[in-house]
Amino acid sequence: MAREGSSRGSTPVRTRFAPSPSGDLHVGNIRTALYSWAWARHCGGSFVVRIEDTDRSRVSPDAVAGTLGALRWLGLDWDEGPDVGGEFGPYRQSDRLPLYREWVDRFLADGTAYHCYCSQEELDGERDEQRTQGLPSGYAGNCRELTTAQVTAHRREGRRPVVRFRMPEGSTVVRDTIRGEIVFDHANVPDFVVQRSDGYPLYNLAVSVDDAMMRITHIVRGDDLLASTPRQIAIHAAMGVAEADLPVYTHTPDILAADGSPLSSWHKAAGISWYRDQGYLPEAMVNYLALLGWSPGGDREELTLDALVESFDLERVGATAGRLDPRKLDAINGDKIRALPPDDLVARTMPFLTRAGLVSEPPTREQARTVASAAPLIQERLVHLTEAAGMLAFLLVPEHVFDVDPEEAARILTEDAKAVLEAAEAALRALPKWTDEAIERALRRTLVDELGRRPKRAFGPVRVAATGSRVSPPLFESLTLLGRERTLARIRRALDHHVGV
Ligand code: GLU
Ligand code: ZN
Repeated sequence: MAREGSSRGSTPVRTRFAPSPSGDLHVGNIRTALYSWAWARHCGGSFVVRIEDTDRSRVSPDAVAGTLGALRWLGLDWDEGPDVGGEFGPYRQSDRLPLYREWVDRFLADGTAYHCYCSQEELDGERDEQRTQGLPSGYAGNCRELTTAQVTAHRREGRRPVVRFRMPEGSTVVRDTIRGEIVFDHANVPDFVVQRSDGYPLYNLAVSVDDAMMRITHIVRGDDLLASTPRQIAIHAAMGVAEADLPVYTHTPDILAADGSPLSSWHKAAGISWYRDQGYLPEAMVNYLALLGWSPGGDREELTLDALVESFDLERVGATAGRLDPRKLDAINGDKIRALPPDDLVARTMPFLTRAGLVSEPPTREQARTVASAAPLIQERLVHLTEAAGMLAFLLVPEHVFDVDPEEAARILTEDAKAVLEAAEAALRALPKWTDEAIERALRRTLVDELGRRPKRAFGPVRVAATGSRVSPPLFESLTLLGRERTLARIRRALDHHVGV
């Protein structure tokens, strides 16, 4: 089902997401994962997840699981990866070390790479020298043509070499779907280290070997990596990849924080788990992040993963940096929450209620029933799933723990509320049937018609007495769920402990 632009010749589209699992996934990375995934799915190609963990100091043990978990949470799936394997595995760079070593050895053998014995002090000295002379900084190539005698001397001193890639003369044209053709003059691309002195490969080597060997056709990544691209293209060429087979690059601009500053990783809203914890739905994150820097045309704001796959086009990924707009994200989240089937809303809300200590793990039958009947009442009002705890606490806390918010008590449960609560108590006690309609009719008649209070003055005290605060689901439905016994007990308590004391 190859569509236009989906393949080059008969080459199937293969995209990849290559996170370095150093903790929480940055939303900028999530967006590139989303685009890579969507492009593969749009083209009927394959999406590969590869873990870039050669930089050992940065990898935390749970990070890989966390990274894959975040992708799953968003609803992304992959055809090849560390957990599912695949034809081009392994998919964890730390399991691919012999492969990198093999290529480095080949490069050393054919002169594409060479041993560099320079010490850190020498390199620092070189850089200072370049700076004072106003020259472009970077390795000048001291070890490019060492004689056997020089090598022997270095070895005798106990120096252990790194391996440097020899950038050829000339220039590289990077073809980028956003920026078009960018020419890099190799005069500004010094020979770079591909293998450390302890034998470990560095990023540019590992990523190029993997992209080439895994037959990746399209690379979407942050534009902070653009400067590495000519190096990576040079490695592809050294591996024998034909120019026509080079991956197509899309370097996406950064996501900016709401204030326009770069969204760096210390920013709380930078990592995806923050959003999950704040009660954002994955559907909302996908919708919001996909449209931050890409547009299906028109001013469509509502998007699902299926719709993204259907309409996604790498060529339409834009050049302007997206700025996080919390209000817009909240609006989308509220929409997605309202669109959930009730039992799905219950399932997604439950962990937040558990976390708030309102529901046990697993929930008791009673708790499950309460949440299921109350969820429809709060669905309209939720902007984040986290808010469910505050809205449903009055139904879920044990009676001896229930209390009225002291501020609300001071404001609403005043001397003036006494008559209201007493009348409400009598009317509710006398009700033959405990239903929404019966409760509403009784309270309107008693408090508004007979007592002559305006509805706000009439129902406010009842709401605060029974639910503890003024922000709760609709009053009459809330009382129905709370039950007559608890409602009356709470009104009595408000009368005894708050009103007019
Ligand atoms: N592992 C790199 C990172 O997380 C991405 C490499 C790439 O996409 O080329 O920054
Ligand atoms: Zn050197």
